[in-house]
Amino acid sequence: MQTISVERVAVLKPKPQDENELGFGRIFTDHMFLMDYDAGVGWHDARIVPFAPIPLSPAAMCLHYGQEIFEGMKAYRAPDGGIRLFRPELNMERLNLSGNRLCIPPVDEAFAVEAVRQLVRMDADWVPRAEGASLYIRPFIFAADEQLGVHPAKHLIFSIILSPVGAYFPGGLDPVKIYVEQEYVRAVRGGMGYTKTAGNYAASLKAQEKANAAGYSQVLWLDGIEHKYIEEVGAMNVFFVLGDTVVTPALQGSILGGITRRSCLELLQSWGVRAEERPLALAELMEGARGGRLKEAFGSGTAAVISPIGALRCGEEEAVINGSTIGSLTRRLYDALTGIQWGRAPDPFGWSVAI
Ligand SMILES: *Cc1c(COP(=O)(O)O)cnc(C)c1O
Repeated sequence: MQTISVERVAVLKPKPQDENELGFGRIFTDHMFLMDYDAGVGWHDARIVPFAPIPLSPAAMCLHYGQEIFEGMKAYRAPDGGIRLFRPELNMERLNLSGNRLCIPPVDEAFAVEAVRQLVRMDADWVPRAEGASLYIRPFIFAADEQLGVHPAKHLIFSIILSPVGAYFPGGLDPVKIYVEQEYVRAVRGGMGYTKTAGNYAASLKAQEKANAAGYSQVLWLDGIEHKYIEEVGAMNVFFVLGDTVVTPALQGSILGGITRRSCLELLQSWGVRAEERPLALAELMEGARGGRLKEAFGSGTAAVISPIGALRCGEEEAVINGSTIGSLTRRLYDALTGIQWGRAPDPFGWSVAI
């Protein structure tokens, strides 16, 4: 395994005063990780350096053609003061899955996890202690060739930056209102929907603005071909409790395979709760809402962990779910996942790892 050279900052930045006011991704720690790729050489020069702007040519390919991928994970402060990661190997596996789609050369997954560990260890004092707060970890790779021809980059940069973030729901779990988007789509099968790449998020902004303007906090995405099947909610996977069965859309190329989604399915299975991954039509969902079969709904993702959905707006119709309160299964999943992530509960699966 490559070694990682270290250059420490001369003067540490002041830490945030109030960990309850952190918000999301607004401040960054003292250090960052960098590594270069050059065709014919491979990945080289792994280093931890002071957090600072990265010099880039105005012709750098990522700025023009979006050859970029990223990941999102967190470090959690356990009750004993130790710092833990949640299934980090799955993030690096997914980074390479995204990279494969975008012609970005793979990184050594174990080495990338080790880079996260070393960086978090160096900036360990930045891992918040406030309830629900954590250190968000953003690994990303972008094309840095100084060239305007469209082709897979020969020079890329892999970086990891860290940002202390507050609790997603500072006032406790709060059901959100969702807008079903029937015009714009996020991704199509055959495209990049299953990858974490910049362009997917650029494609989502317009509908997000539209939903916000109508008084809704997130978009419920439909499939890009028939505009008929449920895909995701905002940048989260989505689950519905229909009767006594939990249903989440099957991964068919346009949906991001969330690690929280996978963990929910594994937890449900271990509890003996029936869960299905299958195509789920909007019509079935709205029918379920009208007939009372739709009991609970929630989004899943690293940022919010579990986000209960209280209402769905579809055209002129608004379906209120579970009286806009948190369902019992939604609550149970939230408690189980956050318990494991913050090292407060038993971890029968070995998902939580110390740094
Ligand atoms: C990151 C992401 C998710 C959630 O994935 P996790 O691994 O659970 O954080 C879901 N959908 C989209 C579009 C995402 O970008």
